[in-house]
Amino acid sequence: MADPDPVREYDIVIVGGGPAGLTAALYAGRNKVRAALLEAKGAVVDGALLGAGGQLLNTELIEDYPGVRSILGPDLAEIMSEQAKRFGTEMIAATVERIRVEPDGTKVVETDQGEVRALAVIVTAGGNPRRLGVPGEAELAGVGVSYCAVCDGAFFPGAHLAVVGGGDAAVEEAVFLTRYASRVTIIHRRGELRAQPILVEEARSNPKIDFLLDTVVEAIDGDRKVSGLRLRNVVTGELSTLEVGGVFIFVGFLPNTGLVDAHVEHDAAGYYVTDPMTMETSIPGIFAAGDVRSQLTRQVTTAVGDATTATIAATKWVEERARRRRAGTAEPR
Ligand code: NAP
Repeated sequence: MADPDPVREYDIVIVGGGPAGLTAALYAGRNKVRAALLEAKGAVVDGALLGAGGQLLNTELIEDYPGVRSILGPDLAEIMSEQAKRFGTEMIAATVERIRVEPDGTKVVETDQGEVRALAVIVTAGGNPRRLGVPGEAELAGVGVSYCAVCDGAFFPGAHLAVVGGGDAAVEEAVFLTRYASRVTIIHRRGELRAQPILVEEARSNPKIDFLLDTVVEAIDGDRKVSGLRLRNVVTGELSTLEVGGVFIFVGFLPNTGLVDAHVEHDAAGYYVTDPMTMETSIPGIFAAGDVRSQLTRQVTTAVGDATTATIAATKWVEERARRRRAGTAEPR
């Protein structure tokens, strides 16, 4: 790990080491700005950030990243991390606690390793899976309640598993879980799935997958491991139980947008609204890329694209700020 240093100063600080953060690190390094990437998970060994990758680490196979026919998520993360390091961005293993803006516009990133100061910040902090919030969920997390099929699927050979949710993640992960499970039941609160038709078609044609639609999970039962679910049909009101060995919950994602200690414009779901041309948030000099940003879809490709734009825009912003300071004119907006 890099030395904890109470005050470090950079042109650009990148918060988060998922695909967006690693791409920002790559471009910042190539732009020859003084840049650092802060990532809570993982460790820095010989300047390289090991264990970075964000959601890539929870993804089995990636087959929709152009130029790479098929690759495991963690393998793509490792390559991105190594490539980012080559161009000189400093990698720091630190948990960001708060980002505040000083009256002169300097951003102060408070971490568990001390303060880091920057002219511009690119927030690529991703997010966390949304919880169902039902009895048994927290108590049985890790012993049958999971939010990551790739991480935990192999623990359930031959089991009957439930997947909760109707989006891309739920349907895709249900198909993945059929590698291990004897049967996978997708439980969705509406009569129609939200997931892309191609994914739904794949799930419907898989003989191990069945569907319980218009159904919500009211409780997860089990004594030290999951044994079943208590369900309610939202149309008929009928209550039922389903015996399962595990339940995988994919009901969306909560972005890590609470770090900035100021009001940043956001959408109804809490994602940062950014300028489409620059990825700048409503706070001058704070940019956002990847899953924290309000957008149509959240893919590795979009995270990488956002981060490219954000880093080029942040670099120009920093250069413009220096130019104006030298000329004694106002800060860039
Ligand atoms: P999502 O698209 O937001 O879907 C969340 C699902 O959970 C929805 O079906 C929603 O139901 C349901 N849900 C939400 N809160 C619930 C609750 N409290 N109880 C029960 N069900 C609840 O989230 P996601 O599937 O995680 O996907 C996130 C983003 O990643 C999307 O943009 C997606 O396209 C992308 N993604 C893409 C791929 C791919 O392209 N291969 C794979 C994974 C994810 P309603 O439908 O009723 O709202």
